[in-house]
Amino acid sequence: MSRIVYVNGDYLPEQEAKVSIFDRGFLMADAVYEVTAVLGGKLTDFDGHAARLERSLGELGMKMPMTRDELLDIHRELVSRNDLVDGGIYLQITRGAPNDRDFAFPPADTPQTVVLFTQSKPGLANSPAAKKGIKVISIDDLRWGRRDIKTVQLLYPSMGKMMALAAGADDAWMVEDGKVTEGTSNNAYIVKDGKIITRELSHDILHGITRAAVLRYAKEAQMTVEERAFTVEEAQAADEAFITSASAFVMPVVEIDGAAIGDGTPGRVASRLREIYLEESIKAAI
Ligand code: PMP
Repeated sequence: MSRIVYVNGDYLPEQEAKVSIFDRGFLMADAVYEVTAVLGGKLTDFDGHAARLERSLGELGMKMPMTRDELLDIHRELVSRNDLVDGGIYLQITRGAPNDRDFAFPPADTPQTVVLFTQSKPGLANSPAAKKGIKVISIDDLRWGRRDIKTVQLLYPSMGKMMALAAGADDAWMVEDGKVTEGTSNNAYIVKDGKIITRELSHDILHGITRAAVLRYAKEAQMTVEERAFTVEEAQAADEAFITSASAFVMPVVEIDGAAIGDGTPGRVASRLREIYLEESIKAAI
């Protein structure tokens, strides 16, 4: 079935949607993106994603091409036109398509390119992976220094995912100066003696919208949270590990570089946080 996608004001069948070869998103990765999960036909944490989008654009000297309400309307229209129940909405905004390729930014009034499309993932919240947990490998973090900006420079994360698959694992945790930064497309956590440990916010990692929600719920449930970097060795010796992202929610990690974490099955804290996160997100979805 062909999707209806959004491109620069138009809703079109995906085959008819086109952007210029001079688009700076295509030529320079000069673009930001967001992914918002849809559960039961509703958007989860839309405001969080919209706020991060505004921040990412601002950090790159780009403007928000529409109001937050207009953006919400487009998201809802795509859910409706595609009968989307569970899955996500991908959004990308580029600095637009000037007449030629040039390192200098085009004039500020160059129209930005705005693209949104849906991804259907029926039963997303009941993923079998969550019951088994996932395996990760560690790799060097070779990305640029502003990972807090959600740009479409996803080549290295994509290569990291391929390295993980080639090693028989599911994902990779990236390591810089001996400490884990984050997963290829998720934030990374360990649990030791009941304490949830995750790297503090900085330019080194993406400020996950799911991370913010999960840490809030953890604190509300009287769990202890410590925001600091940890090593792979510490993770291998931890009681539990997990990742968070808008599309994986809270996903237990049961192995790092071949070493089982805890008893090698999803931990109690990760499983409880997943339950709380899904319950609360579904309740608050719009
Ligand atoms: N870190 C990276 C590098 C990511 O790509 C993502 C997902 N986009 C995350 C963390 C998780 O962010 P969120 O919870 O907002 O999906």
